[in-house]
Amino acid sequence: MSLDEYKRKRRFEATPEPPPKLEKKAGHRFVVQMHRASRLHYDFRLELDGVLKSWAVPKGPSLDPADKRLAMQVEDHPVSYFDFEGNIPADNYGAGSVMVWDLGTWQPLSPVPVSGKYVPGTDAEANAMLAKGDLKFRLKGKRLNGDFALVHIRSRKAGSKGNEWLLIKKHDEHEVEDYDIDHYDSSVLTKRSMDEIAGDEASAEWRSRPGGGRGKLKAAWLADAVAKLDQQKAGKKTSAKKVQPQSAQSSTEEKKTKRPKLKSA
Ligand code: MN
Repeated sequence: MSLDEYKRKRRFEATPEPPPKLEKKAGHRFVVQMHRASRLHYDFRLELDGVLKSWAVPKGPSLDPADKRLAMQVEDHPVSYFDFEGNIPADNYGAGSVMVWDLGTWQPLSPVPVSGKYVPGTDAEANAMLAKGDLKFRLKGKRLNGDFALVHIRSRKAGSKGNEWLLIKKHDEHEVEDYDIDHYDSSVLTKRSMDEIAGDEASAEWRSRPGGGRGKLKAAWLADAVAKLDQQKAGKKTSAKKVQPQSAQSSTEEKKTKRPKLKSA
């Protein structure tokens, strides 16, 4: 287990993310972090051998066994990333807002079912299943519960890094047909929405970034402001905060791009 890649990608003087420290104690926590970066995605992390094994899941996990969710394996993260919620500043790796979407514990399942049911397995079995590309596990979270599998797939796409897995819910009493992840849009840690985590300023900054997630630059005046900012940035380092939209139009834009407020878990 190594956090070298995690360390290499980040400047710890510029990001609030935790340092790359290997944990000695063996824990079995899991976290799902909603990450509003250049593209919205969900980071799925399982604590194993002193690190968080991590996958980026573009559509997020599902409790519907019919959904097979693409999960791109990414670098191991330090265990202290477990409850990281906040903002990664612009120009840093993964810049954007991070929300703790689900938390809990997990256990590996033995690859051999007993009378048709999966039973708890060992860390050695978990590592063997990971190496083989078929990890079966059980989650006890606030939103995600029951048995799952992460299955390594061989992509036929040119340039594939070989890091593509599928996150699949197994059939059990926790499955939910037509599971809609968008119903759950608040932090299980702080109950905050993504906009509340981002804060008004940071949130506006994110929306005004070219190609920044869901917020499209529909307003011409805003697009102009961003174009000017980009020119300034090309010349010298300038704070994006100086060109925050402050007119009445900005609140209209916000309403248009804001996700509907729905019930939380
Ligand atoms: Mn991420």
